[in-house]
Formats: sequence, structure tokens, C-alpha cells
Amino acid sequence: MARADTLARARELDRPELAYLVRFPAADGMRKTELTWAELARDTDWVTARLREHGLAAGQRALLTASGFEGFWGRAVIGALSALKVTYGIAEAMGWDHRRTAVFHRELNPHAVIGLSAQTLEGLAGTADLGEMFRSTSVVLARPAAVPLLRGVGVSAALISAVGPALALECPERAGAHVNAAEWRVGERDGQLFLAAGEARTSPLPETPLGIAGRAITGRCGCGSEDPRVLFAEADRPQPSRS
Ligand SMILES: [Zn+2]
Repeated sequence: MARADTLARARELDRPELAYLVRFPAADGMRKTELTWAELARDTDWVTARLREHGLAAGQRALLTASGFEGFWGRAVIGALSALKVTYGIAEAMGWDHRRTAVFHRELNPHAVIGLSAQTLEGLAGTADLGEMFRSTSVVLARPAAVPLLRGVGVSAALISAVGPALALECPERAGAHVNAAEWRVGERDGQLFLAAGEARTSPLPETPLGIAGRAITGRCGCGSEDPRVLFAEADRPQPSRS
């Protein structure tokens, strides 16, 4: 069969709605939820708008550090970087791959580093001056445990973190990481964050305590957004692992 015919046939096939099965740590152990392609597309649009607020624009370069099992938000970030025409490299966020972060950082001289983990910083600290390395990087979006390490050496890092199956991303105001209110309902109870799927979400998730000590802030942010914000009480809480 000619290639054009094959492609025409392929277009007629049903595409499964399901993009990911997301496993995430909750207060009572690992939980699962689904993520459809349509939801992923909307998540990507939201991340694109957030990264644009940080000044990311066509022709810049970025470094993403994420793990394969974090694809449910990593793919939205990659899609956002593509939409913004930002060239990107990817390093693993686990500590053992910190050298790749060092090489990409040196070779790409990125405008933005997204997803820095405390483990990566610990690895880098053995051979590099973290302040010297990242103070010249315009946008540093780091995980909760990495943010205080970076701010301690004069890097004005903003926060990025998975909150269950959702992504929280701090705006340039650095007043807590926004969660997309069109897709999620986030809040706090007894000092612990909880999350539920919002009305727009077709994949169900009832209100789920996440076992993350933190605060949820409602009301308009200095950036103008009404999306709620989360702050993590334990900046040094362990990163979610695959198990
Ligand atoms: Zn804001």
C-alpha cells in the first residue's frame, strides 16, 4: 500500500482518549487517576501562559530537569516550550544525572532552568558554586526542597511542584505556586493540602488529602491571576519517588 494511503487509513483509526495513568503519593498511599489528551492539551496551554509570564519567548533556550515518571506534567512543560519556540534540553532530575544538568547548563547557557531538584543541586555542589552557576540564569523554577538552597546562595528561584496529579507553578511575584483553578480545586485542611478534579476535568478525582504540609491561598495574586496558590510548609520534604 502506498504511504499516503497508509497515513489516510491511520487517520481513520480511533485514538484512545487516555494519555497517561498518573500515579501520585497521597496521604493514605499511592493513588491513581487518568489524564486524557484533551486534558493534557489544556494543561499545556496553562503552562504556556505561565512560562510566557516569566518572559520565555521564541529563540531562547531552556533546560528541563524531570524524571520519566513525571511525564504527566513534564509533557505539558515540553509542549509549552515548543509552543513558545524555546529550544530545550532535558536532564533527569535524579541526583545521579547532575552532570548532564551541568553540561547542558554550560553548553546551552539557558534563559530558563525548569524543575531543579535538591538531589541535582546536592550533586552539583560537589563540583560547582551553585550561586555562580544559577545567578546569571534569568528564570529558575525549582522544586520545594531546592528553592531554599537556591535562595540561600542568592538565586531568586520560583517554585514548581507536582501537587498530586496537578502542577503548581509560581509566577514572578513569588507569592506561592499557582494551580489552574479551571481544572482543579486545591485547598488545605488541618495544615495539609488536598486536591480534587474541577468541573472541566473529565477524569474524576474526589477530594484527596495529599499528605503535603502546606497552605493554600485564595484571592487575587499580585500578577492579576485568581488561580489559588500553594505554599509548602516543609521545604525539605522528600521528593516523590517512583515507588
Ligand atoms: Zn501570581
